[in-house]
Amino acid sequence: MAPPLLFRNIAVVTALTQGFALRHDEAEGLSRSDIAFVDGRFCDPRDVSDACSVDAGEMLLMPGFVDCHVHLDKAYTARRTGVSRAGLDEAVRLAMADFGNRSEEDLDQRMDRALARAFANGTMALRTHLDTPDLPSRSAAWKVFETKRRAWADRLVIQPVALMALSRLDDGADFDRRAGEIAERNGILGAFVSAGSATSERLDRLFAVAERHRLDIDLHVDETLDAEAEGLSLLADARLRSDFSGRVTAGHCCALAHKDQEVLADTIRRVASARIDIVSLPMTNGYLQDASLECTPRLRGIAPVKELAKAGIRIAFASDNVQDAFFPFGDFDMLQVLRQAVLLGQLDCMAGDWLSSVFSQPAAIMGLNQAGRIAPNAPADAVIFEAGSLIDLFSKPCLARRVFRAGSEIAATTISDPTQFSKERLKRA
Ligand SMILES: [Zn+2]
Repeated sequence: MAPPLLFRNIAVVTALTQGFALRHDEAEGLSRSDIAFVDGRFCDPRDVSDACSVDAGEMLLMPGFVDCHVHLDKAYTARRTGVSRAGLDEAVRLAMADFGNRSEEDLDQRMDRALARAFANGTMALRTHLDTPDLPSRSAAWKVFETKRRAWADRLVIQPVALMALSRLDDGADFDRRAGEIAERNGILGAFVSAGSATSERLDRLFAVAERHRLDIDLHVDETLDAEAEGLSLLADARLRSDFSGRVTAGHCCALAHKDQEVLADTIRRVASARIDIVSLPMTNGYLQDASLECTPRLRGIAPVKELAKAGIRIAFASDNVQDAFFPFGDFDMLQVLRQAVLLGQLDCMAGDWLSSVFSQPAAIMGLNQAGRIAPNAPADAVIFEAGSLIDLFSKPCLARRVFRAGSEIAATTISDPTQFSKERLKRA
């Protein structure tokens, strides 16, 4: 167990910090507080000797990041797949052509690399979709994933989602068996809900199977700019018809931005009453939507997150694809994701409003009640940035950061030159 640490006068995001005395003397949604790490948990400073205190005047303390939508089975394949320059369909074709190359050895090496980067960047929980064209028991990705989940259990919470074609539901017995295997693996039921595949019948069956096996649902929905795409609308109606008691998450939902105002308002109302959480993927959608070889994109491809949030719908931002056929860049870095979301969505982040979308909101989506916030007795999973303000946080390309897991600083840092960060300030007593 790490020795106690007491950070005096550290900056925190007001909206993400509960149960500590806050001095609201900062602009931009920040406050100052004294926060201790004791026995792996955030603690009241009065419980700690001043001998282990650190003057944290130039530090910004955030919770550990939560990345609730990634694809560990595809990450780092871009060199062999090539990268789409013409949108989603080409990316799917390139990725599927590579499926046979995803051997256990290959998956093992790439998943480890992805988890190491996420961990070093300060992420404490991830949810990964895994392509599941066959039963999980016959899938190399699921087999390797299980070994990774065990190997990383003391450092990362990782949840698997079975990503399948929605048409798999047409074979009821087969789908039921799949759902049983997913439940045995503590997984989540997933599917790609596209304009061509979404029907009320299939979605009704999806909710019935999920309820029978006590599975949560996490879908790729309407990843297109086609204003006619009805996946999200059909999903909301199906949930409202069902007696499904689990969580429902819809990723992407790009088409919603292209509905006329009346349809948009009506759809958002039904999504809110169906308690569907929305995950927006700004890096992949910004890269793939409205892409063509000849033309500069005119459209942004991001879901209408401001309107959705205003209706009380939970919104998270996540990495999605990293260095694969869908997106050639990325580093499993949620600060990079947040910056891209702010730019693409023209989000007013100066009040700290949207920061919860990479912390507490995805934590709630993943059912992790103590994650994504700073509160007494919550695990001291934290990232400390050398940032004096949110302007620094959103502006400086090489912002120094230090990552803590259960109160212990991890060895790896995300910066190539760790001396950039003034280590003296963090010296333990
Ligand atoms: Zn995805």
